[in-house]
Amino acid sequence: MHFPAFDDFYQRILLLLPFAANFRSNDFDYKSPAKWQDNFPHCGGSDQSPIAISRRKVIPLSLPTLVFGVYDEYFDDLVTVTNNGHTVEFKVPTTIYGVRPYVTGGLLQDCYEAEAVHFHWGSPESKGSEHVLNGRRFDLEMHIVHRNTKYLTLEEAVNNSDGVSVLAVLFKVVRAGPTFYQPGLHEIFSSLLHLGNFNSSHTVQERITLGSLLGNLDRGNFFTYKGSLTTPPCSPVVQWHVFSEVLPISHQELPKFWQVRDNLGRPLQKNFRPLQSQENRLIFHRQPFVPLQPEQLQELIWL
Ligand SMILES: [Zn+2]
Repeated sequence: MHFPAFDDFYQRILLLLPFAANFRSNDFDYKSPAKWQDNFPHCGGSDQSPIAISRRKVIPLSLPTLVFGVYDEYFDDLVTVTNNGHTVEFKVPTTIYGVRPYVTGGLLQDCYEAEAVHFHWGSPESKGSEHVLNGRRFDLEMHIVHRNTKYLTLEEAVNNSDGVSVLAVLFKVVRAGPTFYQPGLHEIFSSLLHLGNFNSSHTVQERITLGSLLGNLDRGNFFTYKGSLTTPPCSPVVQWHVFSEVLPISHQELPKFWQVRDNLGRPLQKNFRPLQSQENRLIFHRQPFVPLQPEQLQELIWL
């Protein structure tokens, strides 16, 4: 995940502490992720992401489904996608109802408002999802970053253990088969051709919904665990939701990511963080929620 809001945040810190701080959250690269912790101590700490998720090692858990609030309502503004040197990203606008899409339910105790969407990808030679599912790395991973509405800003949210929730969607390239069209995703993928240069941005000319980026994904089937931002400052404050279903991306669209360049004009490829240790964390696989029948409740009461 990447948080350009930190740029402003650290800019202010730099002004306040000119001799104490000599780095910003966008001062990192994917060539030496082991060095991130030199400037960002959380990156060397616990509860880090991404991790490998194996169906054999997850804990099935009956959970209420995630609620996707106004996810399928149109934004009230066009989306502008930006190349920030680490990924391509857009800020989530408000919907026609004046509020941003949000998620709640599942293991979430609070309401989490969508802030931004960005991607992680590989290269012509290697796949680039961050999470690995059943031993497989996939071609692309999309992150929809949400802020707990208890906190007013993302900077405040990342300083609290329940501050952030991320939805992660994996993509697998498809070469043939039935043609498919995914509005929303198609618009975002098409904008990539305008985003080759660092700091360039492109406004998508079609109105989209946030939900359209999920295609026909089974929104009720996901893995959830406690982890971190996958870019500095690696704050361990994220409730992750990694969907079990993998969405298709056409073999014509995936290469558009590979021509994006970083701030030095180099191809921005393989912008995924290496796998982190699961440690003793539990990974849950959401099972459909079956409310207890009255007689079952009675049994529990007698117990
Ligand atoms: Zn990310």
